[in-house]
Amino acid sequence: MYTRRKFFRDSLIGGILAGNADFWLKNAPYLSKPDKDALPVAIATWGPNVKATAAAWEVLAAGGRALDAVEAGTRVPEADPEDTSVGYGGFPDRDGHVTLDACIMDEFGNAGSVSFLEHIMHPISVARLVMEKTPHVMLSGEGALQFALERGFKQENLLTDTARAAWEEWKMKAEYKPKINVERHDTIGMVAIDMKHRIAGACTTSGMAFKMRGRVGDSPILGAGMFVDNEVGGAAATGLGEMVLRTLGSFLVVEEMRRGAHPQKAVETAVKRIARKYPEQSKENQVGFIALDKKGRHGAFGIHQGFNYALYQRGENKVFEAGSLLGK
Ligand code: ASP
Repeated sequence: MYTRRKFFRDSLIGGILAGNADFWLKNAPYLSKPDKDALPVAIATWGPNVKATAAAWEVLAAGGRALDAVEAGTRVPEADPEDTSVGYGGFPDRDGHVTLDACIMDEFGNAGSVSFLEHIMHPISVARLVMEKTPHVMLSGEGALQFALERGFKQENLLTDTARAAWEEWKMKAEYKPKINVERHDTIGMVAIDMKHRIAGACTTSGMAFKMRGRVGDSPILGAGMFVDNEVGGAAATGLGEMVLRTLGSFLVVEEMRRGAHPQKAVETAVKRIARKYPEQSKENQVGFIALDKKGRHGAFGIHQGFNYALYQRGENKVFEAGSLLGK
């Protein structure tokens, strides 16, 4: 008997042989049409980082590599003295030292990272050299500084007058209450996909303001602050690093996408996981994720309202408000 199933199978084979895309879409709607305009794309945590997505786009639009795009993009806030959460101008630790964390990952799964790095304006570029020029993934503290200086980076004072003044003010009470809410947190996590479908990610920060000396957050930890898998997509985090570290948030987002979740669903799953595991800390602290899947679809979500992100796609660079778990 020539059943409907057989008819479908034969027509499907006919369709494949004919190489007919419309046939595919009509008969196999689960194979969504590739959106050829979705790439290239760059996404970054926090609205002010539109300047970073603009720098990334220059590389992407010229046909460049996603890895170069995320490095160029994240170098923008690193050099910006007005950005008090990243690089130069970042708020210091409670002893007055600016200490920096960063990581980067390419389309082959190579990764580099630095933590507790001082005096170097561009930790993301040092992380890239750890990835490319050493047999290691992560260098920390004095060793990371030594490596950077050997590679020709300049030793600089990264503590601006504004950041020093904020620290002096904080010292009057010197209340050590790690708390990260929606304002003043511009740690940049960025994911980009280039025209050749290569995915890369980067994350760089001065970490929590007035943290304990030696404290390292989620941002330089692969799988926590950022993670990329070229077969799937990438994700990055911002907010209270301790909550992201304990859940390996970015890795979770990528694994959710691997299981077929849309990036938006994947970031919501990670935020819900954090809120469920740490309900008390989640009341007062923000965590936000951004994600891109390999088709160029994106997602963004925070625990609290106020998390926003920059997206450069289809020639437009825009800031969007992310949804939130505890929002209206
Ligand atoms: N995640 C960073 C950290 O905990 C801070 C932030 O995103 O604002 O170091």
